[in-house]
Amino acid sequence: MTPGTVAVIGGGIIGALVARRLLDRHPDAGVLLLDQDVVGGGASRRSAGLHFPRGASPRVRRMSAYSQDFYERLRTERPATPIYPVAMSVLSRAAPTELATVYARPVRRESTPAVLTACGAEVRVGRDISVWDVAGAQYADVHRLVQTLVTEVRPRGTVREGVRVTALDPGGRGAYGVGLSLSTGERLTVDRVVLAPGPWLSAPAWAALVAPLGVRVKKVVALHVDHRATGTDRALVFHDEDAFLLPLAYRGHWLFSYTSPDWDVDPDRVAAGLGAEDVERARACLGRYAPALAERCTSGRVFCDAYSPTGQPLVCPLDPERRVVFAGAANGSGYRLAPAIAAEAVQSFDPSGNGSSR
Ligand SMILES: Cc1cc2nc3c(=O)[nH]c(=O)nc-3n(C[C@H](O)[C@H](O)[C@H](O)COP(=O)(O)OP(=O)(O)OC[C@H]3O[C@@H](n4cnc5c(N)ncnc54)[C@H](O)[C@@H]3O)c2cc1C
Repeated sequence: MTPGTVAVIGGGIIGALVARRLLDRHPDAGVLLLDQDVVGGGASRRSAGLHFPRGASPRVRRMSAYSQDFYERLRTERPATPIYPVAMSVLSRAAPTELATVYARPVRRESTPAVLTACGAEVRVGRDISVWDVAGAQYADVHRLVQTLVTEVRPRGTVREGVRVTALDPGGRGAYGVGLSLSTGERLTVDRVVLAPGPWLSAPAWAALVAPLGVRVKKVVALHVDHRATGTDRALVFHDEDAFLLPLAYRGHWLFSYTSPDWDVDPDRVAAGLGAEDVERARACLGRYAPALAERCTSGRVFCDAYSPTGQPLVCPLDPERRVVFAGAANGSGYRLAPAIAAEAVQSFDPSGNGSSR
């Protein structure tokens, strides 16, 4: 069954993959991808873009495996895709049974080294910490990947950038359509909408529709470490701190991502730059493992992401007729889970279940 005309609102990694999948599954559908900015300019532009095969719940583990296969296929089909495999080790005090559940096939190192080397410096490994090697990790230049994906959408669908959706009215324009008002003054009616707004949850057009989901916006910060990264360097994940050190070879430096505690930030304000507190928190976290590196964190990237109350991404209808589907709130994992989120969103138009990520 064709879903008719579908507006995908938000041209980040999730919206781009939704548009692509819609066109692949339903070549007869009319797909309109709308973004208030140039596509890939939101959270996707600032993303560290790390994929690691892990998930705290069975659904997220399934989504992670699905997305990993998807990205691997994309790389095989188009070798120029900006996705780069990376070796990875996980450091943790957690019980082996916990790690073996969360990560896909982790291999514990038989003897735990007292120090590891990353980013040209020593990383201390406490006696209570075990080291696990995990295969299947990769990272992407997510901004460039979105441009590539949207370039493929253009000949088959319509892409409109710099066009903000100012009103969204499910069922408001007759019994069968969703009314949209645009910043250009246009009004249109489409059959369905996939809403993939990243952290722009409080946009007047959908704040009331989205509020019952209980999604909140949290600051996400990653510091840049000025040390040359190469394609053979290994990423280190500090599992207990939800932090990682990643060699961004395509940019020629390392990145340290840690968990910021700042909730309910505004995506239109938060990108103003690193604050002293951001740098101090990152240094305190990294300093526990690699004091020499902490002092070298002097720049970075600041933005935010949408977090769901369950810790799992949300793909769900926002209206009783299921014409508007929300896709997002991936809790700082929107790159690595985006293919599975897109698959679930498109599948929600196809109750037969064909093409599900499940
Ligand atoms: C610093 C940082 C590091 C990260 N690191 C990782 C990582 O290592 N691995 C990982 O998996 N994830 C990571 N993430 C999270 C990941 O980047 C996000 O989850 C993902 O990019 C979200 O994609 P999205 O498409 O939902 O949102 P976005 O990329 O924000 O896209 C939403 C789009 O909606 C558009 N929009 C909003 N309002 C309107 C409107 N009214 N009308 C039209 N368009 C509108 C915006 O312009 C935007 O382009 C990181 C995030 C940050 C900030």
